Amino acid sequence: MDIKDLLRPTIKALKPYSSARDEFQGATDNMVFLDANENPFENGVNRYPDPLQRELKSLWSELKGVSVENIMFGNGSDEVLDLIYRAFCEPNQDNVITLPPTYGMYEVLANLNAIVIKKVNLDNNFQPKVDEILSTVDKNSKLLFICSPNNPSGNSFYSEAITRLVSEFKGIVVIDEAYIDFSKEESWVSRLNNFPNLIVTQTVSKAYAMAGIRLGICYASAEIISVLNAIKPPYNINELTQKKALELLNVKGLAEKQITDILLEREKLIDALKSIDFISKIYPTDANFVLVKVDDANKRYNQLIEKGIVIRNRTTQPGCENTLRLTVGTADENEILVKAFLLISKS
Ligand SMILES: *Cc1c(COP(=O)(O)O)cnc(C)c1O
Repeated sequence: MDIKDLLRPTIKALKPYSSARDEFQGATDNMVFLDANENPFENGVNRYPDPLQRELKSLWSELKGVSVENIMFGNGSDEVLDLIYRAFCEPNQDNVITLPPTYGMYEVLANLNAIVIKKVNLDNNFQPKVDEILSTVDKNSKLLFICSPNNPSGNSFYSEAITRLVSEFKGIVVIDEAYIDFSKEESWVSRLNNFPNLIVTQTVSKAYAMAGIRLGICYASAEIISVLNAIKPPYNINELTQKKALELLNVKGLAEKQITDILLEREKLIDALKSIDFISKIYPTDANFVLVKVDDANKRYNQLIEKGIVIRNRTTQPGCENTLRLTVGTADENEILVKAFLLISKS
């Protein structure tokens, strides 16, 4: 498979904007910078940020054991997903495949980019129907989105199913691993070398407790990464984001400790939910949330709102009738949720 054949013609021909900081590299502290029309008075943010985030990227590369040439950062993984659309999908011509119920942004971005979306619903166990997916593909199918662990169901997909999809689909397979750090499954990042058509996305928004700084990660072959680097906005990761990420990622063991706590709380929450009489099913989860089936999702959702608790009502999603998605909070927050459930189950 030649990735160049999948790129949009305009992207193949694109000459990227060359910023002042792109044209001169190799800065040392005692140099005078009069190239970018910045305000010279130092305040910590008066200079443009590094367009390739070298310091942060090398730290992330070390943490994840992935070479920097296989990493690109986006303004949230949502920007990464948008860049993937813009690189590979020709508006009003190409299509993408999604596997509902799943993350809503794949569809929003398809609509935004004038790309047709083909949906193949997951089966009753929220697993991909591989044969049906492969038979839905046509010559204009450029992207296949796999969210594992999946949002909103919480489960991971069988590795054999993903392997078949990545091996047999003739376009780009995007595996969204926003919740991988909560899962026992191995990340697909380690298999990038085996699959030139594989893109993996992750985020610091969930397990790394940095949703507010907007930092998403894209892993792919050096060839794909260089295309995405060429089409991204030059300064897409701002200085404050780069600094805050470096600061928190340098606290040894912080994320690991919080993930362990969240997983412990998740098991406690699941146990407590078993005693709520209107909850008929607790779906298996590999993420920091739990999907539950209730008697009447709209009613229960509104009752919780009245008690000042906001959860996510997923009842309109395919295969998710009368389900609610509960994010695992602190021990105190989960206790408040369970108490409210107990109270409303008596009313
Ligand atoms: C939360 C979430 C994201 C969003 O990531 P950002 O980096 O915050 O944009 C991506 N994919 C899935 C499946 C998510 O649930």
